[in-house]
Amino acid sequence: MAELLKGIAASDGVAIAKAYLLVEPDLSFSEKTVEDSEGEIARLEQALAVATKEIEAIREKAAASLGEEEAQVFDAHLMVLADPEMIGAIESNIRDNKVNAEAGLKSVTDMFVGMFEAMEDNPYMQERAADIKDVTKRVLSHLLGVKLPNPSMIDEEVVVIAHDLTPSDTAQLDRRFVKAFVTNIGGRTSHSAIMARSLEIPAIVGTKSITDSVKEGDMLAVNGIEGEVIVHPTDEQIEIVKNAGEKFAALKAEWDKLKDAETVTADGKHFELAANIGTPKDLEGVHNNGAEAIGLYRTEFLYMDSADFPTEDDQYEAYKAVLEGMDGKPVVVRTMDIGGDKELPYLTLPEEMNPFLGYRALRISLVEDDMFRTQLRALLRASVHGKLRIMFPMVATLPEFRQAKAMLEEEKTKLLADGVAVSDDIQVGIMIEIPAAAVIADKFAKEVDFFSVGTNDLIQYTMAADRMNERVSYLYQPYNPSILRLLKFVIDSAHAEGKWAGMCGEMAGDQTAVPLLMGLGLDEFSMSATSILKTRSLMKRLDSTKMAELADKAINECDTADEVVRLVEEYTK
Ligand code: PEP
Ligand code: MG
Repeated sequence: MAELLKGIAASDGVAIAKAYLLVEPDLSFSEKTVEDSEGEIARLEQALAVATKEIEAIREKAAASLGEEEAQVFDAHLMVLADPEMIGAIESNIRDNKVNAEAGLKSVTDMFVGMFEAMEDNPYMQERAADIKDVTKRVLSHLLGVKLPNPSMIDEEVVVIAHDLTPSDTAQLDRRFVKAFVTNIGGRTSHSAIMARSLEIPAIVGTKSITDSVKEGDMLAVNGIEGEVIVHPTDEQIEIVKNAGEKFAALKAEWDKLKDAETVTADGKHFELAANIGTPKDLEGVHNNGAEAIGLYRTEFLYMDSADFPTEDDQYEAYKAVLEGMDGKPVVVRTMDIGGDKELPYLTLPEEMNPFLGYRALRISLVEDDMFRTQLRALLRASVHGKLRIMFPMVATLPEFRQAKAMLEEEKTKLLADGVAVSDDIQVGIMIEIPAAAVIADKFAKEVDFFSVGTNDLIQYTMAADRMNERVSYLYQPYNPSILRLLKFVIDSAHAEGKWAGMCGEMAGDQTAVPLLMGLGLDEFSMSATSILKTRSLMKRLDSTKMAELADKAINECDTADEVVRLVEEYTK
């Protein structure tokens, strides 16, 4: 029987394919007394052999797609599987205590993990503990005959189903095979959703219960435009979803014609349409979608894609590639924003009750002096290859900005003294994503070169509604007059000091918000590259004076977000 589930439409497009469950399998078992110890040891050996083959295959695939360095983690796993001391201890345990292979394996590996984890200030041992845990899971899955999901090995067309996807899970998805993904939790501005849009993988998040409704291999019809997924669709439903996909493709073909067009309104006003990127590899999408600039380069992905802190030279190469790739067009590079939903395996951060309110972004950079200065030096060195703008994330107070800027100046002075060329035309700005900064934007405007509003965070902090939590997603209201008032103040404050104001939060590409933002006088709109052409198409048919009137009315006459939406509809008909 067909079943329809609704969620949050996170990335446009449709897909019809079988389900691939990316969920933690049940690896529970009970300890049993077994007389035939040799039989259990044979089972263990068989499981070890299959696990070894599997990891070798994964390693090969990782080396080909991600590079040799990334693949090395699997060598450590293979070493665990072949470790005579540990395997010997497991076999003795099975023999001496007459336990089943599962229990014999788990108690010995738990002991090793406990021992290594206790060596708290030894990162090498911490990593070994993590390797043993991973390998134990794989061997147990073979003993129990349970499948362990592995997204990097998907080699047929599927829809990935998960409780949640981390940004690094999402980065591993191969878009040739992963036709869509659907999750239980998450919001439109979670980083997996943002990545899905730049990878052009249709996605639905926040369905609450997709993992309960779908079994491995079930047929699914996903409509990422509407945020609907049908489990076991009928032929007729498949036809409807396919038609929606075709309609969307036709619209896209229309937008594509604007790739080389200027971004001008019906009355001839120009706005800058920029793209958000996470890696130099995203440049292809930037060019294919006719971006006029890069408004946000999320450099934390450089850190997340690496097995250790990226060196100054590695970073320099990445920044240079982006600056050169943009051929003189502006590139806003944001310094590292780790924390929240973005983790670094090699930077252990304390468990926090509220990671989005915690130790993240510039707060980390100002403490981790070496890490931050390495990034600043790489940026300064790269500055001669294009039009660089440096941006600090999560600034709450002026002293934070001043400290970061002073560190940048110090590194610049040192480089120049060493005879290294640095551009003398680097703008330095901040993200406005904390309400405290927004309400004193007039003061910040005197010291920065530009603002870029990070609405993904600004909205969650203003409404006190976690951007990742689908239960409070109704409060995530970009069009609420409270948000619009904050934005007006930020944009007006920038202009009063002769500075520019951009936006790199997802709101900048939201088709209901764009008319309001045009009316508020936002200068630069930075978004997933895949939203640029539809925004250019929308701007072309709107009149900027009329949009100013719309924004004014929305702020002064509307009480609720719904009223604002109705007003926008009236003005853009
Ligand atoms: C934002 O907060 O709007 C933003 C662009 O930054 P991020 O989504 O990376 O937090
Ligand atoms: Mg942010």
